[in-house]
Amino acid sequence: MAHSSSKPNTRSAPVFYVSRKETFSAGHRLVNPKLSEEENWQLFGKCTNPNGHGHNYRVKITLRGKQDPKTAMVMHLSKVKELLKSVLEPLDHKNLHMDIDFFKINMSTTENTARYIWNEMDKVLPNGILYEVKVSSTDNNTFVYRGEVE
Ligand SMILES: [Zn+2]
Repeated sequence: MAHSSSKPNTRSAPVFYVSRKETFSAGHRLVNPKLSEEENWQLFGKCTNPNGHGHNYRVKITLRGKQDPKTAMVMHLSKVKELLKSVLEPLDHKNLHMDIDFFKINMSTTENTARYIWNEMDKVLPNGILYEVKVSSTDNNTFVYRGEVE
């Protein structure tokens, strides 16, 4: 009988990507404390406005994994929702660079916001299941972090 390469062998199992979206609202200011006020204005423009500005951030996290034999799910999305909300709740209605320790030492760019959410989600999710964190700060600007370093 001919071997079909499209059929999975007995040891393989389907892999799924499962996503959940949440939002939070926060203020921030982009400022590099090592630079002068003038250099900050040159680099960041109105984003370095001393009194800050705000965003309605949209966050989408994606998990990658196989089905749990008991549930036929990668992970129950109500649990994912609960974990993501618990990670975002401390950021909501805060001034990121003043209220959140991580952003006192890492500038509150959306890249770093995605990295922060990755780090916090990775602590509470099962090991190795987190695939991607996507953060949109405006309709047109989206930032993706997959835990990669080079
Ligand atoms: Zn901003």
